[in-house]
Amino acid sequence: AKSQQRAGHFYFSRSMGVEIRERVRMMHALRSGFQRGELFLAYQPQVDLATSRPFGAEALLRWRTEDGRMIGPDRFIPIAEYSGLIVDIGEWVLRQALAELVRLRAGGHRDFTMSVNVSQVQFRHPHFVDMLRRALEDTGAPADYVELEITESMAMEEPALLVEKLAQVKRTGVSIAIDDFGTGFSSLSHLQRLQVDRLKIDRTFVTEITGSARGSSIAEMVIQLGRNLGLSVIAEGVEDERQAHILRSLGCPLAQGFLFSRPLSPEALLEWLGNQAI
Ligand code: C2E
Ligand code: CA
Ligand code: CA
Ligand code: CA
Repeated sequence: AKSQQRAGHFYFSRSMGVEIRERVRMMHALRSGFQRGELFLAYQPQVDLATSRPFGAEALLRWRTEDGRMIGPDRFIPIAEYSGLIVDIGEWVLRQALAELVRLRAGGHRDFTMSVNVSQVQFRHPHFVDMLRRALEDTGAPADYVELEITESMAMEEPALLVEKLAQVKRTGVSIAIDDFGTGFSSLSHLQRLQVDRLKIDRTFVTEITGSARGSSIAEMVIQLGRNLGLSVIAEGVEDERQAHILRSLGCPLAQGFLFSRPLSPEALLEWLGNQAI
C-alpha cells in the first residue's frame, strides 16, 4: 500500500509539476515581454445598432512574443492575475487606451468613448482609484468619455466593498459597464445598489439568439432589465445581420462584433472611422 501511495503521489506531483512549470515559464516570458514592449492594444469599434454609427471602442490587449507568435488574452491574463503582474499591465493598458482616446479626439472624434477592461485583481488593489485619477490627469483624457468594464462575477463578490469602490470610481467621472452580463447571477437588488451605467450582453447569448425560439430569452431579459433600471445595454460578439436584426427588434440600442469590425490597430481604427463618416 505504501509503494502504491508513493507511486500515486509521484504521478500526481509530476503532472502538477509540468503544469506549474509551464505557468511559471509563461509568467517569466510575459514579464520580460511586457518590459520589452511586446504587448499592444487593439481597438474594437462599438456602434449604435439603429444607425450603425460608431460611438466608441473597446481596448483589447494583445501579446506578440519575440518569435512572432500571438498569444490570446484568455491565455495570458489569468497568468498575469495569478502572478500579480496584472496590476502593472493593467495600469499600462489604461494609460495606453486613454492616450489613444486623446489622439482620437485631437483627430476630430470628439464624441468618441473608450472602454477599458479591468481585472478584479487590479480593481481590488488598494491604490486602484488613485491610479485611475493619476492616469486621467497625466493623459488629459476626459473622464466622461471613459468606461471601465468589470465582469459580472466580480460584481457579485463582497457587495459592501464593491459598492464603496464603485462609488469612488464614479466620483472620478468615468462610467462602469458590467461585462459578460448574464453569465453570473446578479440579483436585481444587488444590481440596483451598484452604480453601474451599462450592461454588456455576453457573446454566448448573442450566438444563441438565432438558434431556438428560446435562444433569445436571456438577451431579451438583459435588454428589459437595462430598460427597467435605466441602464445602457450593449451586445457583444455580433457576427451577422440576422443577430443584429433580432437584437434591433428586441430594442437593444448598442452593439459590437465582427459584423461591424474586428479589433483594429490605432491606424486602422482611424481609417475605419473615416470610412463610416456620413
Ligand atoms: P471580453 O472583454 O468579453 O472581450 C470580447 C472578446 O470577444 C475579445 O476577445 C474580442 O476580440 C472577441 N470578439 C469581439 N467581437 C467578436 C465576434 O463578433 N465574434 C467572436 N467570435 N469574438 C468576438 P479577446 O480580445 O481575445 O479578449 C478575450 C478576453 O480577454 C476579453 O473578453 C477580456 O475578458 C480579456 N481581456 C482582453 N483585454 C484585456 C485587458 O486589457 N485587461 C483585462 N483585464 N482583460 C482583458
Ligand atoms: Ca470586455
Ligand atoms: Ca465581454
Ligand atoms: Ca465575453
